[in-house]
Amino acid sequence: MLGRLRAGGYEVVADARQAEVIVVNTCAFIDRARQESVDTILEMAREKEAGRARWLVVTGCLSQRYDAELRREIPEIDATLGTGQVDEILRAVSGEATTTDAAEGPPTWVYDHTTPRVLSTPWYMAYVKISEGCDYTCSFCIIPTLRGKNRSRNVEDIASEVRGLAAQGVREIVLVAQDSTRFGLDHGIRDGLAYLLRRLGRIEGIRWIRVMYAYPATLSDGILDAIAGEEKVVKYVDIPLQHASDAVLKRMKRPTGRGHLQGMVGRIRGRVPGVAIRTSFIVGFPGETEAEFAELLAFVEACEFDHLGVFTFSDEEGTTSFDLPGRVPQAVKERRKRKLMAAQKAISARRNRGRVGERVEVLVEGTHPDTDLLLRGRLSTQAPEIDGMVILNDGMAAPGAFVTARITDAHPHDLVARIVDS
Ligand code: SF4
Repeated sequence: MLGRLRAGGYEVVADARQAEVIVVNTCAFIDRARQESVDTILEMAREKEAGRARWLVVTGCLSQRYDAELRREIPEIDATLGTGQVDEILRAVSGEATTTDAAEGPPTWVYDHTTPRVLSTPWYMAYVKISEGCDYTCSFCIIPTLRGKNRSRNVEDIASEVRGLAAQGVREIVLVAQDSTRFGLDHGIRDGLAYLLRRLGRIEGIRWIRVMYAYPATLSDGILDAIAGEEKVVKYVDIPLQHASDAVLKRMKRPTGRGHLQGMVGRIRGRVPGVAIRTSFIVGFPGETEAEFAELLAFVEACEFDHLGVFTFSDEEGTTSFDLPGRVPQAVKERRKRKLMAAQKAISARRNRGRVGERVEVLVEGTHPDTDLLLRGRLSTQAPEIDGMVILNDGMAAPGAFVTARITDAHPHDLVARIVDS
């Protein structure tokens, strides 16, 4: 949308009061995201009254889902667009009272390399969406309803975009999708992601290629071999597993059980030497007993993941888990989350301590959030924003530089290192 707006002659300003048009792009995945979206729309409605803005546009998943309710409750909203109406942003900001097209069916839109883009990330990294939508029906998830069926982009189209990004100076590409390991299947290509990784691995200028959101049933040996064998593809697998109890996985409508998941973790480590595995789980799914939670905890302790995220279950209207009996009280959900995170903290601390003394490549990202006296960066096994950082306490380098550093200390989530070669 930013790319379309800039190409249409619009300028982006940082302060809403300076803006003539305010666009709020929303998320509606879980309760907290919805609340944040609504709070932001209300805040921007006040900014519209107080500032120069003549027009307030709401886009994305929340408007896709609750268009009529939003308009009724927040009359300051002038126009809305759904998730598949990105190309209509120019109409929406130019005073046309557009509305969400959700009633016409699931969205089919997907961008290509000719779509203008404005990077909202630091200049040296970019997210590249390789497909849109999802063919699964996990019982807790509203995404397929909001985003439609899985539809992959074409390999050469993605390669063109990545070549363009490399020419702009981008060094790290993060491939995202709702289900990245299904990439290409809708075009009849098996292991399409493996093919794509090999293709992107040949593009000059790119140093790291990362894949997010693999799915257990489609993470094949072919894909793992491409991750292991392609030099520029970082040895990192992000695979949300959601739970480890067979009974809960069944209620979640996930096609793989605990035995498969445990075998898969071993298979990833066996085929991709030096790999870091990130996963995430949901605690407090309807009917989750203490015994089922204990199974999940034991699984986490046995697998020793490198990075772990834990979500408390969020009840989503329109999903099949919405009507399931056995609600877990919020306090119990929170306690289970704390317990899982504490177990992971001990695992991460132990694993990180074992790395002290290693020589590593670090992508420098700028100064530490707490003090300008330290730099911060990331290893190839740390994804942006979610996996902790490397604190650099000795040596100088500019953001976007790749340096060699030696790890000197370890915290549960972060590592400390000094630059030995920049
Ligand atoms: S695979 Fe992911 S996006 Fe698709 S339904 Fe399941 S949780 Fe949602």
